[in-house]
Amino acid sequence: MDLSINNARLFDGSAVREGLFSVGIIGNKITSVGSLTAHAGKEINAAGRFLMPGLIDCHIHLLNMWTVKDEQTMAADLEHEVPRRLDDFLAAGVTTIKSAGDSEDDILRVRAMLESGELRGPRLFATGAAFAAPGSHPSSTVYAQNPWLGSRTIIESDSPTEVRDAVRRLAEKKVNAIKIVHQGGCKHGEPYFFRAEGINIQIHRLERAVLEAIVDEAHKHELTATVHTFEQDAAIEALEAGADGLEHGIMERELDGDRVIELLLRNRASYVPTLWLLAFEEHAAAVRYANLKRVADAGVRVALGSDTFCGYGKFGESTLVETERTVAAGIAPEKVLKMATGDAAEHLGSDAFGTIANIPGARRLMTEVAKQGAPWIFGLDPRSIGEYLEPFHLALKADVGGADYNARYLTPMNRKLAVSECERIAEAVVR
Ligand SMILES: [Zn+2]
Repeated sequence: MDLSINNARLFDGSAVREGLFSVGIIGNKITSVGSLTAHAGKEINAAGRFLMPGLIDCHIHLLNMWTVKDEQTMAADLEHEVPRRLDDFLAAGVTTIKSAGDSEDDILRVRAMLESGELRGPRLFATGAAFAAPGSHPSSTVYAQNPWLGSRTIIESDSPTEVRDAVRRLAEKKVNAIKIVHQGGCKHGEPYFFRAEGINIQIHRLERAVLEAIVDEAHKHELTATVHTFEQDAAIEALEAGADGLEHGIMERELDGDRVIELLLRNRASYVPTLWLLAFEEHAAAVRYANLKRVADAGVRVALGSDTFCGYGKFGESTLVETERTVAAGIAPEKVLKMATGDAAEHLGSDAFGTIANIPGARRLMTEVAKQGAPWIFGLDPRSIGEYLEPFHLALKADVGGADYNARYLTPMNRKLAVSECERIAEAVVR
């Protein structure tokens, strides 16, 4: 074993676990989590302090959308500013980020450089360019004065065939998800105005057929489609079209009725609250908090995402602000940490990070087995094994967890492989 962290209190990506733990690491992978001290080349005594997975921010914009206006300024941003921003994330404990819309080829280049080790920073997931209705947000708002960057960051189209082609192109470039902006009025409905500092323009959302084509094509390529929304009607449309996530959620007024929540649960979709934006929209806090609380209490997966962009505050620190605001919305701190680790990883479609466990791939395996209807129970609380055995006329004699199992059986056999705390052996006798 290369590294062990001993005597740590553990938040494992879903909850704080009882007692003190030792976590063993080989290379860059956790290989054991248990209560016995793990010996390794390098040992760290946590002395009762907390060990938790790195934080995940599921909504950021990494490149500078204000200063980058052409090839030259882009090259300067990539060379001089981006490495600093990436460091800021690490310094705040943020080890995974999702770019929810950046200049497509540039952000994919940053991702490649991070993967190859040429750049140091958090794991980067990227959606590439985002889909939006022509003449809407953000091309006519944020990028109104910067068409060069806008055209690299947004795909404006009202043609179902065109958007399908664009999704295929993004899939070939191996983006991690598809991002759609669905904000504005219906062509035949009430006019909708986008209002922000110095901006007041009428915008339209995507035609339903276009929205459906993007989501459908994304799913054909096994990509999730996550949708920027502000209002309830647009969110319902997006979810009815099969969206896998709402970025920002419902900000304009409190949810009325259960339709949004029903659809979020039906689609197993995520809600990414981006409360950091309250820095600009303080008046919206009560509505945003109330909607988030309702969605979270209903059991919808909430993935922490700040919507941090350049020019305001510091990357990483803004992610911490997001956790504080989530607590301000009435969510228990332990739940907020889960939103920023285990649930965020699930939103990103990976269980290779975001948790402290020694069986990578376990969650996927559980889902597969559950789908096949196997007669085998995962997630049984060890304290209820006795009750579980009763109907079979069996009485529990001993229940051995990973640490005991390792000490009793594996260590004497000189086996290097460890058994995790969640793999248990129960001995029972016939009553
Ligand atoms: Zn954003």
